[in-house]
Amino acid sequence: MSELAGTWYDGQSSRARAVRLHSPAPGCLRMDADADEVRDWPLRDIVISPRLGRTPRILQLPDGGRIECADAPVLAAWFPRPPSRVEGFADWLERRKWAIAGAAAFTAVSALAFVRFGVPWAAMEIAERMPQAVERHLSDQVVAVLERMHFEPSRVPAERQQKLQRDFRALVAGESRSEQMRLRIISAKAIGPNAFALPDGRIFLTDELVALAGSDEELLAVLAHEAGHHVHRHGMRQALESSSVFLVAGMLFGDASGSSLAVSIPAVLLSNGFSRGHEREADAYAFDLLRRHGHSPKAFASLLRRLSRKLPQLEEAGPAGYLSTHPPSPERILAAERAAAGR
Ligand SMILES: [Zn+2]
Repeated sequence: MSELAGTWYDGQSSRARAVRLHSPAPGCLRMDADADEVRDWPLRDIVISPRLGRTPRILQLPDGGRIECADAPVLAAWFPRPPSRVEGFADWLERRKWAIAGAAAFTAVSALAFVRFGVPWAAMEIAERMPQAVERHLSDQVVAVLERMHFEPSRVPAERQQKLQRDFRALVAGESRSEQMRLRIISAKAIGPNAFALPDGRIFLTDELVALAGSDEELLAVLAHEAGHHVHRHGMRQALESSSVFLVAGMLFGDASGSSLAVSIPAVLLSNGFSRGHEREADAYAFDLLRRHGHSPKAFASLLRRLSRKLPQLEEAGPAGYLSTHPPSPERILAAERAAAGR
């Protein structure tokens, strides 16, 4: 005969007593408490708590008392009522908590991996298929934001501007996507010494950066770097990467309309600049392009040095321009000098 040990609370006092349970006849539960006390109840009058992993089972007795006992197969024989689906599922889950913890961890890691690798990959794939009309539309939005910062026509003498335009065209002639590249020289005190590439190939260069550069060779090096951003579609990739983050955030926080997108993309392109990976890629492209045309990447290093020296004054003057999006790190200067030395 199957017996089960349990703890009995009589419902009147808080006293716990060790008891043994067994079923002397079908439909009857007998409890032996010590030797002196024996009680019988019809099984159908007892309510048993659902199975939940390794939690103790509780038998609610018709007289207000209860018995706690470990789960055991004999209980299923005494109380053959099939557990409800929900109870069964809860029990199944409880018994597989390591699997669940593993699944949760896997989900979290997958989400992070998606943001870290999947989003940039998808952005690159999509950027390569993006129609030029979209690139132009996005760039127009950026220009609209920029124009509020009071751009003025460049005050650089016309001959020097024309020479820069010619040198730039000669430099990028035959390069991939070069037919879309347009150099715009502007006066823009609000953004200081700056140069940037928009997704549609417009490359802006400010008078302030022209004034800061020591020579046109240095400016050409910067333009080669910006051309690298365009060739590798960094503008569109950056816009897509950050907008997908905004989209996810929008879905999480209830703005799935994407209305924040139109506002955020110009802001991202202007203020956050490109990732370090994009900068390295644009640098490498620029060094190669300059060398192929007989220019030394050393000019890029010297411009970065010049910017670092000016850094304190520029920061005081307001937006640090090129510096805020293109920090002249020692590694970048070193890489330019290495490229110049042909290493
Ligand atoms: Zn850059």
